[in-house]
Amino acid sequence: MPLSPDQQADIDAARAATQQTRRATAPGLEEELFTAHEVLDHGFVRVVDYMGDDSAIVQAARVSYGAGTRHVSNDEGLIRYLMRHWHSTPFEMCEIKLHVKLPVFVARQWIRHRTANVNEYSARYSILDREFYVPAPDALAAQSTTNNQGRGDVLQGEEAERVLRYLREDSTRAYDHYEEMLSQDGQQGLARELARMNLPANIYTQWYWKTDLHNLFHFLRLRADSHAQYEIRVYAELISDLVAKWVPLAHKAFEDYRLGGANLSAKGVECIRRMLKGEDVTQETSGMSKGEWREFVNILDGADV
Ligand SMILES: Cc1cc2nc3c(=O)[nH]c(=O)nc-3n(C[C@H](O)[C@H](O)[C@H](O)COP(=O)(O)OP(=O)(O)OC[C@H]3O[C@@H](n4cnc5c(N)ncnc54)[C@H](O)[C@@H]3O)c2cc1C
Repeated sequence: MPLSPDQQADIDAARAATQQTRRATAPGLEEELFTAHEVLDHGFVRVVDYMGDDSAIVQAARVSYGAGTRHVSNDEGLIRYLMRHWHSTPFEMCEIKLHVKLPVFVARQWIRHRTANVNEYSARYSILDREFYVPAPDALAAQSTTNNQGRGDVLQGEEAERVLRYLREDSTRAYDHYEEMLSQDGQQGLARELARMNLPANIYTQWYWKTDLHNLFHFLRLRADSHAQYEIRVYAELISDLVAKWVPLAHKAFEDYRLGGANLSAKGVECIRRMLKGEDVTQETSGMSKGEWREFVNILDGADV
């Protein structure tokens, strides 16, 4: 169960209460406040709080540009201009605080994003729940043969069954030992901060994670991307949907320039110019390495942007 009964009761109480405010609110995100969206088998993401909306970005930008922004006729145009030109600080005026429940191995990737404020469940202070991530059969993939950092086809038959059995049995055994070591029944009981050593990386943890919109976009750019590991990507995709409800104009610009856009090197731009003039450019004449050329062709083919 993703939410404990206590957490559900807190959420119900928070959702039942409404407050009047003079602050800017985003109607789309107001609807989402406190709702826990399930991710993976036991995880969730819920919005705890937020500050700002599309107009907060515009408001901040107009302070820095003053009369200079008058030629940009509307808010959407200004937001697109800021995104296009990497004028990032106006996006930092918006903040969001999420409560996330996620497997520890996903948390290790997530925590590398240093530009956030984090408060995690303490396994020194509290006992972790018996909740382990076990991939759904269609997410149980073989090692990729072309990408050392990726996965290939889905495991089949006896191998898939055996892997799932190992994952379940090993998690169960590790947790049984964890409980046994903690127990003060007829023994001293090992400290919680030590007993947790035994737990595997697929156990779930929880944290509050607060960040601003600029850094959230950076996180989403990397983790909602097809190169990101599936288990963090599903969180990022869900958060991206929430961001679309919070700051629809900024999210649209982000999708256009960052998620759907592509970076080209000077060599890449030069190759496109030559191609437009009718030249048959090849990897050998492009000045690019084989890997660079493959990625460049993928961008042009729409296979990988
Ligand atoms: C597909 C993929 C594969 C990866 N593989 C690996 C891997 O094999 N091994 C590994 O260790 N990591 C790996 N990472 C993690 C990656 O290297 C980054 O640590 C992670 O994506 C966080 O990015 P960031 O540092 O830009 O984000 P943040 O920490 O949020 O920082 C945002 C930006 O702030 C600036 N910044 C923040 N802190 C500092 C600082 N202390 N000094 C200077 N500038 C700072 C930088 O400009 C940075 O880009 C991988 C990430 C992805 C998406």
